[in-house]
Amino acid sequence: MYKETSIKDVKITGGLLHEKRMLAAGKTIPYIKKALNDEIEGIEPSGAFENFRIAAGESDREFYGLVSQDSDVYKWMEAAALALQYENQETLAAFDEAADLLKRAQQKNGYLNTYYIIHGLKDKWHYLKESCQLYCAGHLIEAAVSAHQVLGRTDLLEIAEAYADYIDHCFGPEAGKIRGYDGHAEIEPALYRLYEDTGIDRYKRLADFFVEERGRKPYFFSEEPRNTNVGNNLVYELDESDYRHSQSHLPIREQNEAVGHAVKAMYFYTAAADKARLDHDMDLFQHVKKLWRNVTEEKMYLTGAIGSSAYGESFTYPYDLPSDLMYGETCASIGLFLLSYHLLLIENDSQYGDIMEKTLYNGILAGISESGTEFFYTNALEIDPERCEKRQDYSHLKYERQPWFDCPCCPPNIARLLMGLNKYIYTGDEHNFNIHLFINSEADMNGWTVTQDTVYPRAGEIRIRVRKADSTPGVLRIRVPSWCGKIRIKKNRQEIHPVINRGYAEIEQECWMEETEIQVDMEMLPRKVYASLQVHSLIGKAAVMRGPVVYCAEEADNGDLSGLFFKRKGNLSGDVDLIYAEGYRCTKKETGLYGCEPPQFEDNAICLVPYYHWGNRGKGGMCVFMKER
Ligand SMILES: [Zn+2]
Repeated sequence: MYKETSIKDVKITGGLLHEKRMLAAGKTIPYIKKALNDEIEGIEPSGAFENFRIAAGESDREFYGLVSQDSDVYKWMEAAALALQYENQETLAAFDEAADLLKRAQQKNGYLNTYYIIHGLKDKWHYLKESCQLYCAGHLIEAAVSAHQVLGRTDLLEIAEAYADYIDHCFGPEAGKIRGYDGHAEIEPALYRLYEDTGIDRYKRLADFFVEERGRKPYFFSEEPRNTNVGNNLVYELDESDYRHSQSHLPIREQNEAVGHAVKAMYFYTAAADKARLDHDMDLFQHVKKLWRNVTEEKMYLTGAIGSSAYGESFTYPYDLPSDLMYGETCASIGLFLLSYHLLLIENDSQYGDIMEKTLYNGILAGISESGTEFFYTNALEIDPERCEKRQDYSHLKYERQPWFDCPCCPPNIARLLMGLNKYIYTGDEHNFNIHLFINSEADMNGWTVTQDTVYPRAGEIRIRVRKADSTPGVLRIRVPSWCGKIRIKKNRQEIHPVINRGYAEIEQECWMEETEIQVDMEMLPRKVYASLQVHSLIGKAAVMRGPVVYCAEEADNGDLSGLFFKRKGNLSGDVDLIYAEGYRCTKKETGLYGCEPPQFEDNAICLVPYYHWGNRGKGGMCVFMKER
């Protein structure tokens, strides 16, 4: 088991993700601040900052937005705090201003939620199923912990601790407290982070309570009062699917299948993984791992997208993975990335790193435009613009990234994930150094000094230089991705054949005090990928990947995509930015709706681009899995 890596121990120095981070720091984060402050014309209003001003008694406007609106500010603050690992006066001033505003809006007892402060506090803990109060509090806590860790700031931490203390005063198993939890998990992983940052036990106890209480009978959501101005005030019966939606149908230790809202599920399982790690509870770990495997082996798209159904933004049944009418929220892929990392801290196995890079280079990166100011909320693997525009049941799917949303959860979530990427590349302690992601970076942690030089995922060559401060033995582990068929490793220019243990090449040395150079060369050729026959919608179809990157065909390069087929055993040529696949286009002379003439197939090369790159060239269709003959 390993502790979370400190963000300050790792610097990202170049490459694709560095460019995306610079874009997020320079463009996305200032843009989101303006959007939340209603300074951008022509996009959905937010009201998020104004709500805090109203709550502080500094504005007489009315609350605007969803009950979760505060969380947008908190996620932006976390992204901004993380971005301040690079100097930026504008972001620093905006962060200072936001922290001051929060302080003024916070109640004397520590409570801080603008919806309830503005609408009256009497019934604030009623209807937790939908009120998102603890969800918002969780994002405040995460922002505060990140600001403390990156900037050494305690102002936001004091606000977050005061609120966490008040929540602790109100919730718990003790008589007189509410034996309840939030409809959207998030307070749980946040409280574990707060505990690990401050060492204060009561935050862990409260997180433990929330993790174990969810799903116990009698169901809290059927018992809790609902006389509030949030949502539907009528008393009605909840059914099984209502509980499954928030993973509150069973206690965590009795859950065997990932169900319900995909983002809620990922955050909840992440907290359960934290509890397992902190308590060395391997039984709980096995349960969470089982849920993770259920997701990654039966309910995940090739791109790391999860959530097959727009209804409830949720999981459905195993192998139900339609490419077009799906959901795949960007936040859900981010959640799967985070869950995988938190399991990786417990068990150093390459399957977690494989999923981290799959989600990162596909489902997550696709969520943000090249300009840094447009975003996908849903991430389908096949888009037909006409269908999106003309069919109501496809209206949640877009052929172009959007400048903003009514519920803008994804934009600040991508920004905070990118800006916090430092901590996910490596784990270790004084005797072990594990490399999970291949990103140009420098690490200085636990006495190890490691640098990575690579252009990954453009190519599979990585040069690693390693040194250790003391003369004790140590093991360097390098993840061998599951996509990689051929790998060559050299140590100080001599080829070596290290043991591969749980998907990691292990290089052991008695002493690492002198710099050791490791060269890794992974063959990275384009390849076709086929789904299990259990995914009925993908039978007879193939997709193309190169390294961890999924490719897609765009109308911009290929014209109409509907009549294109891959040629079975056809060549794949080209490189990183553009792959050509041998294929066919079908044609027909008959023009009637139905007729007896079979289509003809003409040779037609299919041009493929990285999936994360799609949708940056105006209106047009896109397709990942294509028919093959
Ligand atoms: Zn989202």
